[in-house]
Amino acid sequence: MCSDGDAHYIFRLETPATVRRRREIYAAAQARAAATGDRYRLTDEERAELPDADFSEPHDLVNQPIPMVPVAQLYRRDVSDFVGPDGADLLQVLWCPLDHPDEGYNPRVRLYWRRSSDVTQPLRTVPEPPVVSDAYLPTPCVVHPERIREYQYGGLLPEELGTQITAWEDDADDDDETGDGRSYQLDLSLAPGWKVGGFANWSLTDPQPMDCVECGTAMTLLFTADSSEWHGTGGSWRPVQDQTEASPNPTDVTIGRGYALYVFRCPASFDHPPATAMQ
Ligand SMILES: [Zn+2]
Ligand SMILES: [Zn+2]
Repeated sequence: MCSDGDAHYIFRLETPATVRRRREIYAAAQARAAATGDRYRLTDEERAELPDADFSEPHDLVNQPIPMVPVAQLYRRDVSDFVGPDGADLLQVLWCPLDHPDEGYNPRVRLYWRRSSDVTQPLRTVPEPPVVSDAYLPTPCVVHPERIREYQYGGLLPEELGTQITAWEDDADDDDETGDGRSYQLDLSLAPGWKVGGFANWSLTDPQPMDCVECGTAMTLLFTADSSEWHGTGGSWRPVQDQTEASPNPTDVTIGRGYALYVFRCPASFDHPPATAMQ
């Protein structure tokens, strides 16, 4: 539960049911447009069901403990090289689905490492928050992890290496008749989308030090929630298995104006608190 109450930044509150219904309506309209080739439009009935753009549930609904929502459940066996505390085979990521000014106006993230054999009586019903911010309510989906090699954000590479990469990119531009070039930043170093491990893309603010509040150790990237799986990259990260009409954002989560939420952990101890950065 999150008990931040009035300390939340409140903009527009909706019930999870309202959010889910709106997504259903949009998906149905999308499917009709795809099937008929007609323009995407809502029927009058669908439009009537949607709340006005400025509608919000009463703000005082946040003055009660808010159940956190499940964001990701990952077994270490499914993710190569997934480092966790000794004996723990499962990571559960939850967040409070409201904006927290003291977390950079992001959801408050909590990590739970578990031994799955200790969970003998799982809850049958997921506790639902009374209200959420639409952007922070994930649409459930299954993940099919794909292992890739990432390379450090360009701005954090040694200067000489950065210069060599720029020269290599410029060479490709000269040789390539399609004019697509090649981009270390967009296509080769950092995968967009939800991921475990790898590196953060600091293109919004430039790199910020992420040091553990407990012990000062430089933290490493543990987990990323993103607003899109292949945004801004010319589609080179798009899984070939995905249907052409597949949504680039199957979770329906949006971080800020289409950014990613990076969750860092302290390499010195899993007991030290995680930290987040939006980029
Ligand atoms: Zn909260
Ligand atoms: Zn630490």
